[in-house]
Amino acid sequence: MIYSALRSEVLELRPDLDIGLLDKAYAFAEKAHKGQKRYSGEPYIIHPVEVAHILLTLNPDVAAMQAALLHDVTEDTSVKLAEIEKNFGTEVAGLVKGMEKLAVVKLRTEDPQEEKWRKMFLAMARDIRIVFIKLADRLHNMRTLHHVPLQKQQRIARETLGVHAAIASHLGIYQIKSELEDLCFQYLYPEDHKELSGKLASYRERSEGCMAFATSQLEQLLVREGMEEIQVQGRMKHLWSIYQKLQKKDVRNLEAIYDLFAVRVILPDNFDGDKEDYAHLYSVLGLLHGEYLPLQDRFKDYIAAPKANGYRSLHSTMLGLGGDLYDEPTEVQIRTRSMHKEAEIGIASHWSYKLGKKGKGKTHVKLQQGLQRALQKVHALLERGPDLEPCVREWVERFQYLATEDRKQVEKLLLENGFKETDLDAIRKSRGQQVLSLQPNIDEQLAWLRGLAAPSPQPEINLYPDRIFVLTPNKKVIELQTGSNPIDFAYAVHTEVGNKMVNAKVNGRIVPFDYELQNGEVVEIVTRSNARPNRYWSSLAKTSSARGKIKNWFNKQDKEGNTAAGREMVNKELQALGKAPLDDKLSLFKNYGGKSRKLPEREQLLENVGLGNVSPFQLVKTLFPNETAQEKKSGEIVIPTEYMEEVLVTGEENLPVVLSACCKPRPPCLIVGYVTRDQFIRIHKKNCRELADLDEARFVSSHWKTKV
Ligand code: MN
Repeated sequence: MIYSALRSEVLELRPDLDIGLLDKAYAFAEKAHKGQKRYSGEPYIIHPVEVAHILLTLNPDVAAMQAALLHDVTEDTSVKLAEIEKNFGTEVAGLVKGMEKLAVVKLRTEDPQEEKWRKMFLAMARDIRIVFIKLADRLHNMRTLHHVPLQKQQRIARETLGVHAAIASHLGIYQIKSELEDLCFQYLYPEDHKELSGKLASYRERSEGCMAFATSQLEQLLVREGMEEIQVQGRMKHLWSIYQKLQKKDVRNLEAIYDLFAVRVILPDNFDGDKEDYAHLYSVLGLLHGEYLPLQDRFKDYIAAPKANGYRSLHSTMLGLGGDLYDEPTEVQIRTRSMHKEAEIGIASHWSYKLGKKGKGKTHVKLQQGLQRALQKVHALLERGPDLEPCVREWVERFQYLATEDRKQVEKLLLENGFKETDLDAIRKSRGQQVLSLQPNIDEQLAWLRGLAAPSPQPEINLYPDRIFVLTPNKKVIELQTGSNPIDFAYAVHTEVGNKMVNAKVNGRIVPFDYELQNGEVVEIVTRSNARPNRYWSSLAKTSSARGKIKNWFNKQDKEGNTAAGREMVNKELQALGKAPLDDKLSLFKNYGGKSRKLPEREQLLENVGLGNVSPFQLVKTLFPNETAQEKKSGEIVIPTEYMEEVLVTGEENLPVVLSACCKPRPPCLIVGYVTRDQFIRIHKKNCRELADLDEARFVSSHWKTKV
């Protein structure tokens, strides 16, 4: 396509877009790409023009159209982003930069992480317009893929199917999704593609007759019933989805697929104020079910329960639509015009762009004032003649659904009532923005106009606001919470990577551990085998998983430390009795207390000693009951602390009190006492994890004496 053709299409379909701005972007791109060729040998500029042309179906604003024309200028030529910004402003430059950033999304063959790539794609394209431009870009590249060297074709097709087609589907942009899928099919499974299209060609001949018959039957029926403004169309399912069906269900013949072709009934929208009414869809369904035989279990109500991507329609498969000639079941889809548009371009149909844009203040203010004047006239007219309301409202709000004759009639009526051609124009121009609605309340109307005048925020959509996607040096995608830093990343890759981390690099540069990672960055963690985590890290880590892993490491270290301390204490007691110290296997505790114990249990005994839960004397006494005749006074092992006097133990006033070493309680934390076998009271924090293993009967309630 050449630019002049695109230009006239824009003028016709989107008179609201400032054509001068598009001309400027085209001239700039044309100059920058001068002399460059596509693989096809065509001048490069054809590509951005085609991309802008595809984008035009997706409700673009003028900045998105400019960015589409400029999208390859920085990547493929020497033009710098700064130059784009200087010439076209920050908004357009931001979109072009977004396209550049997305270039890192390259999928390796058979990548098991497709899902994450898709998420990363969406997360990186903070502005939904970037996604639209990227999809248009990929669609044109796929249309021209046969010019690309063979060895690249497969990789590109696989990436497109896994990422771009999937995203188009996710966003409900069906028209791009199905074209991308069929193109990918052709390159990925050339044999199957050839076979299926061959089979379908002969089938199509038959079914086209059936479709034609069915559509005319339906049309006649609906008109007979007094329905107006209906559209009935037939359509074939696209190749890739038929192929998928054949694979999935193991149905080897096409005839077994009921919805190979479908008849669509498109009805007018019906709004009750702002509320969408679709009772008429159900009455048409009832009408059809009365006339034809619906197949059991083939009715789907995607209006009551829309598909995940927002698709809405009523589906029902019926017999008899093909008359006597074709006795095949036929799927009928019933929807409103808005639903139809939604089904074709999905999220783009809801995407409304505000009029207010920085950098074109003058035109904007003029347009806005003109619109305000025109709408005031509309309101005045409606007050004078309320019976005019339905047709005028239609003309203002849902112009595209009016027949040409009706449009002309309303316009004539408005002109007769003091409207000027410029008033009509102001409304027409705003209509493409999809923000025009006649609010019955004049205050709301004014608020809406003020909203238009306010500088609009960047239309931004962030489908994964709380997550970022970064890469390992091997291009594995790691999904993290927004705000995560290299510590979170390292622990997400592997616990040992976290524990042994010495420094972190982002895009090749060393960064501090609290560096906030951004979407798409490549993060490399440098480790050393004798490195160990720092307690401070857990306060830096953003993810609870990293914090948990750091805490675990220290708990484990504590455990080892306590066990070692316990061993030392027990060895001292043993030494006092003239016994050999403990061996590595702690064989002495093999049958401790008349119970056979495995090594971890033996270590647990020592840990408890180290924690101060069990006295080493007690342990040794159990081992050698006859050799420890002279009982030590429990007081001897009690280590008095400054807080001892501070504790009030209910009911047990005469036992010595110690504070447990394991949780080191201090006021004002809640505490509980434990009467040890040595007859003293050990005070623990109420939430101390050691309590779980203790004998509940020995707990005594305890409090700090100082009231806090
Ligand atoms: Mn491109």
